[in-house]
Formats: sequence, C-alpha cells, structure tokens
Amino acid sequence: MSQAAALDFPTLIFATVCIAGFLGIFLIINWMQQRDIGALAWWGSAYLVGAAAITLWAAPDQVVKVPAVYAEALIFVACGMFWNGLRLFYGREMWFLASFAGVGAWLVLTQWPGMEGGSPHRVALGIGIVAVYTFFMAFELGRERRKSLYSRTATIVVPMLHAGTFLMPLGLRTWYPDVFATRWQTVFAVETMIYTVGTAFIVLLMVKDRHVHFYRKAATTDSLTGLLNRGAFLDAASKLRATHSARGEPVTLLMFDLDKFKSINDRYGHAVGDSALKVFARVLQESTRASDLVGRLGGEEFVAMVPEAMEDACIVAERLRVNFQEAGVVIDDMAVGATVSSGLATTYRAEATIDSLLLRADEALYRAKNGGRNRFIAADEEPGSEAARARWAERNKRADGKVGRFAGRRGPQPAAAV
Ligand code: GH3
Ligand code: MG
Ligand code: MG
Repeated sequence: MSQAAALDFPTLIFATVCIAGFLGIFLIINWMQQRDIGALAWWGSAYLVGAAAITLWAAPDQVVKVPAVYAEALIFVACGMFWNGLRLFYGREMWFLASFAGVGAWLVLTQWPGMEGGSPHRVALGIGIVAVYTFFMAFELGRERRKSLYSRTATIVVPMLHAGTFLMPLGLRTWYPDVFATRWQTVFAVETMIYTVGTAFIVLLMVKDRHVHFYRKAATTDSLTGLLNRGAFLDAASKLRATHSARGEPVTLLMFDLDKFKSINDRYGHAVGDSALKVFARVLQESTRASDLVGRLGGEEFVAMVPEAMEDACIVAERLRVNFQEAGVVIDDMAVGATVSSGLATTYRAEATIDSLLLRADEALYRAKNGGRNRFIAADEEPGSEAARARWAERNKRADGKVGRFAGRRGPQPAAAV
C-alpha cells in the first residue's frame, strides 16, 4: 500500500476541517467565558474562516461550486485575523485595513493574465502573502517584552509552523517536483492539521499564562503605588535575608513613615495625600537599586531591604530623605513640603526573624520621630552580632570600591522579585 493511499487526502481534509471548526468554536466559547481577552474571539473566528476555506477549496465541484480563488482568499482573511488577534492580545492598536490587505491584493492581482489557477505566479503570490503575515506575527510575538515561557515558545513555534505549512508547496515544487505532483496535497493536509492543533494549544497557554500573571501581580502589588504589598514584601524579604545570612552577609531593613501625614490629608485633602504617597513610592524606587526590595507596609508606612551593612544602608536612608524632601516641596501644585523619617536595623544572624528586624527598625523610627522628624536613626546593634560585624568590616577593608555603589538609579521594580 502506498503512503498516499495510507493517508487518504479527502479523509485528512475532512478531519482537518472538523478539528479547525471545533477549535474555532472552543476558542470562541473560551472568549465568551472571559470577555476581557478579545483576541480569543478573533482567533476562534480565524479558525472558522480557515475551516470554511479548506472546505470550499477541497470539496468536489458537484457539492459546492466556488471558484478556487475565493476559497484561497479566505485563507488570507484567516491569516490577517490571526495576526490582528495577536495585536489585540498584546494591547496594541488593531489594523483592520492591513489585516484585509492580503486578501485585497490577492483578489486584484489574480485577475491579471498569467495568474490562472495552478500557475507558478499565482502560487508565488499566495506564498508571498502568507510569508508577509508570518513575518508580522513573528514581529508581534518577538517584540513583546513581558515574555513568559509560553510566549517565548510561541515566538519560535507559531511562525515556524505557519511558514512551514504554507511555504511548503514552494519548497516541494522547487526541490521535489515529483512529490509535489503526486503527494503534496497529502503532506499539506497533515501539516495544516498539526498547525491547527499546535497554534490553538499555544494561544490557549498564552491566555492561561496571562491570567496567572495578572492574578499573581494583583495579589502581590499595592494598587496605589505599584510597589510590593506587605505580604509580598515580607515573603521576599525573608528569602533575601535567608540567602545573605547563610553566607554571613548583612541585610538592613529600612522602615519609613511620612511625617505629619495626617495633617497633609487635613490641609490639602485625601487626593493630595495619595499623590504624596505615590511621589514617595517613586522616590523609593529611584533611589534604590533593582536588587534591593521595596514595598508599602500600609498607610503612609513604607519599607526597604538592602543587602548591605549599616554604614552603606545609612547612605541609602540619607539619599532617600534628601530626594523626598526635594520631591515633596510641591505636590499637585500645592506647597506641601512633605518629609519622611526612617529607622534602620541590620542583621547578620541566620536565626533572626523579619519580625525582630521590623521591631528594631520601628523602635529606631520612633526615635527619629521624637528627635524632630525628617531624619533617620540606626537601631542599636542586635545582641550577639559583634563578631559577625567585625568579620564583615574586615572583609570590606580588603575589598575595594564598596562605598559609592548606590550611585545608580533603579527602574520599575521587576515582578520577578516576588
Ligand atoms: P507622624 O509624623 O508622627 O508619622 O504623624 P502622621 O500624621 O504621619 O501619623 P498618623 O499615624 O497619626 O497618621 C497617618 C495618617 O495616614 C492617618 C490616615 O488617615 C492616613 N492614611 C493612611 N492611609 C492612607 C492612604 O492610603 N491615603 C491617604 N491619603 N491617607 C492615608
Ligand atoms: Mg504612621
Ligand atoms: Mg506618619
């Protein structure tokens, strides 16, 4: 039995149409359940259009009599819709004209002489249109910066499947003319089936991944300032402390409390108070490094953890105090003159808990408030850490260029820090 007979073309095409149709419906049902991802509707519809295209194209003439040029045109409609769906998924503007430009070019150019069905020019035009859309899809996937594992896989696999499926006839025709003549339709049908299932699988994973990312971010971020919330900060800080203490290295916790914040609310209103919190959050991010942790404990209390001993952490605290004093002079066009006080506590000990650090930093903060505000106070050394501190000081004396490492500004805090 020959391979062509083993994989009977009409059966394959029938199966492909069924799969594409079911997946199209499945994606649309998914969209109906989660309306926020409109791309699912576009992708589902693209599958249905694709299924219709294959049906019209492969059906015997006695059943449906649609000129091949229109059946093929629908394939380009599907490509354009799939691509535009990707744009929508990534929150970019949708380009309707461009998504139907391919089919427009096809309908116009196939009217020219020499473009009859099966002619090499016509095949080349079809392949060219698909190649352009493939490039666009790869471009949309490739320029997405917030790439997850699935998106990265999709970046490579989707365009490859796409190109492989639709560019295959050209390769076969050029290098294997005898296979092209006898069996290309079978290979094409199998490839289309793999493509249909593969891309549906990947887009669903991308959607799931987006949801996971969304909920994880919502659960760990403070909505007003975009900083880590209390729980997420304490989790991340525990991990950071554990890694550093295990190596005998210090971490310092800085606790911040905006000065006379109640009176800012009272004098300028709650909205200006909120703006002051946002300004402090921005200063906090910009005055620390990406490897430091920053968060909002709640209300007008913020917190940071830096993998440094007290001397260097004090440099951070002072920089923050000065930067916020400058940034807080005018907020929302009001002469607010906001300032911040902070308390610092360092630990070297693996057994120390975040709670004990918070307690010591809070006590130092209280002293800063009592001392007149707009200042920082370092907590007393924790009991039993003198030896560790001396070892660390000795290590630092030998290592050059330690002071001044905080000169760099930081960008937005990465979600990966969670
Ligand atoms: P101190 O210098 O001693 O820290 O004085 P304070 O006024 O800053 O301290 P207090 O704890 O008395 O006041 C904190 C105020 O912060 C009370 C509360 O109404 C306000 N606050 C808490 N959360 C928010 C918020 O999300 N937005 C705004 N605008 N105000 C908030
Ligand atoms: Mg307070
Ligand atoms: Mg306060």
